[in-house]
This record gives sequence, C-alpha cells and structure tokens, in this order.
Amino acid sequence: MTRFKGFLQDHHYISNQYIFVAQLINLILKWYCSKTKKQHFVSVYFEILENYCRKFYALNIKIFNRNSVNSVQKYNQILDLKIWLKNPLSILAENAEGGILIEGTHIIELIPSGKQPTSLYDSVFDASCHVILPGLINLHHHFYQTLTRVYPQALNKELFPWLKTLYPLWAGITPEALRMATRLALAELLLSGCTTASDQHYIFPAGLENAIDLQVEEAQNMGIRMVLCRGSMDRSEKDGGLPPDSVVQTCDEILADSERLIQQYHNLEEGAMTQIALAPCSPFSVSETVMRESAKLAEKNNVLLHTHLAETEDENSFCLETIGCRPLDYLEQVGWLNNKTWLAHGIHFTDEEIQKLAAAKTGISHCPSSNMVLSSGVCRVMDLEKAGVPVGLGVDGSASNDSSNLMQEVRQAFLLQRLQHGSKVTHLDALRWATEGGANVLRRPELGRIAEGMQADLALFKLDELRFSGNGDPLAALVICGAHQADRVMVAGKWIVEDGQILGLDLEQLQAQHHREAKRLQEK
Ligand SMILES: [Zn+2]
Repeated sequence: MTRFKGFLQDHHYISNQYIFVAQLINLILKWYCSKTKKQHFVSVYFEILENYCRKFYALNIKIFNRNSVNSVQKYNQILDLKIWLKNPLSILAENAEGGILIEGTHIIELIPSGKQPTSLYDSVFDASCHVILPGLINLHHHFYQTLTRVYPQALNKELFPWLKTLYPLWAGITPEALRMATRLALAELLLSGCTTASDQHYIFPAGLENAIDLQVEEAQNMGIRMVLCRGSMDRSEKDGGLPPDSVVQTCDEILADSERLIQQYHNLEEGAMTQIALAPCSPFSVSETVMRESAKLAEKNNVLLHTHLAETEDENSFCLETIGCRPLDYLEQVGWLNNKTWLAHGIHFTDEEIQKLAAAKTGISHCPSSNMVLSSGVCRVMDLEKAGVPVGLGVDGSASNDSSNLMQEVRQAFLLQRLQHGSKVTHLDALRWATEGGANVLRRPELGRIAEGMQADLALFKLDELRFSGNGDPLAALVICGAHQADRVMVAGKWIVEDGQILGLDLEQLQAQHHREAKRLQEK
C-alpha cells in the first residue's frame, strides 16, 4: 500500500510538471499560429495532452486531499481547470440553457440547450436544481451599523433625529467591534448571493484610524470582491453639523489617509478584488475643501467618488438655507457631477436634475428598504434609467435596513417600483439593477453578466423551500416568491459558499462574537 501511495505521489509531482510543459508548448504554438495566421494541427494534440495531465493531477489531489475542499479549489485555480456548470434549472443569460463553462477566473463558454461544451473540461457540476444568476452587486452599506440594529431609542424616527440618536453610540466603536461587524455584514451579503460588496465607512473616532485597512483584510479573507469607500466627515456639532466632534477628522487627515489607501489597495486591473472609492458621508458633513480635493484626488488616481444625496426633503431645505442652492447644484459646483460619482438614494430629483445626471452619467444606488424604513420617499428608478442614468441597488446600513440581504432588496425594489409604475416593471428589471446595473455604476464591465469573457461571479439558488413550491417560472420565483439565501456562491471562479455555508467560516462563533461587541457598544 505504501509503495502504491509512493507511486501516486510521484505521478502527482510528475503530472504537475507535464501540465506546465504542455501549457508552455501550447502557448508557443498558439502564438506561432496567430502570428503566421495558420492553423497548426500539433496545437490540438497538445491541448488534449494538457487536459489529460490536468485530469490526472486533479485525481491525485482528490486522493491525497479527500477532506480538503480548499486545497482542491486552490489547485483548480492555479491550473485554470475547466468546470462545466451543467443544465441549470434556469439561468439569467441568453443561450445558456445547457450551462456555462468556466476556466480559472472567467466564463469561457455559454452552452445552448442540449449541447456539450466545445472544448474539453475537467469537471462537471450538476446544476439541474439551481437557478444561476450573475453574482449580485451591492452599492451601498455601512457595515459598522450592524452593531446598532433595532436600537430601541432610534426606532420610529426619521433620518436626522435617527442619526442624532445613533452618532454618540457609533463614537464608541473599537477596531475589534468593526472587525466583527465587517465580517458579519460580508457573511450576510455573501449568503444572499452578493459577490461584489461596497461599504462606506465614515466614522473615525480615536483608535479607529485604520478602519479601512481592517476592512480590506476581512474582505480578502472572505474572498469577496470589494469596493471600500473611504468615508469622511470634518464638520461636527461645533460647526453646526450633526455628528459629535469625536468621530470627525481634519481635512488634512482625511486627504492624507485617502491618498495612502489608494496607493496601498486600489487595483485597476480587470477582475480586481479590492478597490478604493472616496466617500464623504454627505456633501454637508464635510467642508467644501474636502469635497473639492477628494474630486481632484479621484481624478488623479482613477478612483470613484461616492456620497449620500437627495435622500430627504429636509436635505433640500437645509442646502437651500445654508448654501443657497439645491444639493445637486452644489455637487456640480464642487466638481462631482461626472461619471466617476455614484450617489446613495437619489430620491428627490426634479426632471431637469435627472437630465443633468444622465448627461454626466452619474450613478445612483437605490436602497428601497432603507428609504421605506426612514420614510424618505421613492427613488424614480424607471425615470432615471429611461433618461440613461446608471442605477444599481444597495442594502444601506444595517441600522436603517436592519438586514444586509441583497436578494431581499431585489424583491423590495421590484415591489416598490411596481407600486409606482404597475406591470411595466418586471422581475427582470429588478434583477438587472442588482447585477448589470451595479456593474455599470462601479464602471466594472467585466462584472454583472453571464457572458463569455466575464468574471465567473455567480449566485446559485435552490427552489426547495415551501415558498417556491408550485412555481411555474424558476427565475421569476426567485424575486416574486422571495429567495433569501443562495445555496452556492462563486467569486472569480472559486466557490466561496457551498450548501448554504461559507467555506472556512464558523458562523455560530461569529454571531456570538458580534453579539458580544454589539451589546458592549449599546451598554456603554
Ligand atoms: Zn447610507
């Protein structure tokens, strides 16, 4: 037996070498063929050889790492193994009834009904019980707010008094509490089918200066794609603003840290896992200098800008009284009205303002649950989209939505727009906002759709709960019957969630730790 194991181990090593040699020869041949514009038959043989080597190697890994899902995944990625997600129950893509073929981090082929992939593949995943969606994209959140969900004193209040109640609590957030809040919010998002998350963190009390670094670490450990919005506030109570003095920073501190984070983490490559955006909390919680300088910094480094805007009528009156213009005009004055900016909420716009947004291609994150909870109004999603404004969805902070479930937000968006526009709004519209729409807002053309060449970010849902029983359209059922948990989630070709569980994360322990930090904060 030992000798047999030794034989396999040798072949494990040798087959690994074969793959790389075959890959190398194959690459050279492909390059030669493309240069000479000739079809070279040898290339086909090497492709077959390479695939046999891959299969043999994968078999060996399975034998030696039977219980280690992560190591098989790791080798799958290193070797760019091809997996066929076969015959899905339904899929949000054209001509892909037979499934999709994934190689490494990308979708390389859509397979029509009854057909096989045209190239060789290494493994098959039977998706006949799954509805496949492009991974959902969340455009707006404040992870730290999971620590003050349903805080009794803030219940049943509108935006400004609600904020005034919660700010003193948020001033007490520690690095450990933020770490737990980030981990918990990311887990919630992932389990709801989200593969690209963004978070706006704008509370920086003493001791929490490295908040964004800590969040980058958590997102990278979790394996989710992330846009970290470096929030900021430099106007506090002493300047007539809402937040207490202890949670704001000076203009210089904000700009220096923004620049540091961009240099350290912002990745502009296709398929980037980590990006930074600059995100003053609102145009009225920072000085004009922070707004202007953030825009300049964003332009210089090719990063996006994000802030809250047009959330309530209070905000319009506040802006008119203090600055003498409407919020969108102010945004334009400080150099923010362009295609690098996306705005959370975007409810109270006039027709002219919608045209202005469309001309500038400024994006909107619609946050239906938060808008309903805080009674802020209804975002004119259909009008915005019709005018050409990029629109996506956000769950918003857990203190206003009290949930970070993006799939439920798809349903909320569908219902709210249905209420306004009747049957013109379909489940496909809501799914588009949460996928392709979000990718447009984040300027990420490689995300948000299931098509050849796109990143393999996917959310797979099963319809085995009571709520789906008897459905006649699996895709519509996800939205209309109210799907809330993905069975599997893939980010950049790697399974992160399997059988409704995040691989490598103890959820029970996380809940206990998060709950302890939340109690500590609320009882301070
Ligand atoms: Zn928000």
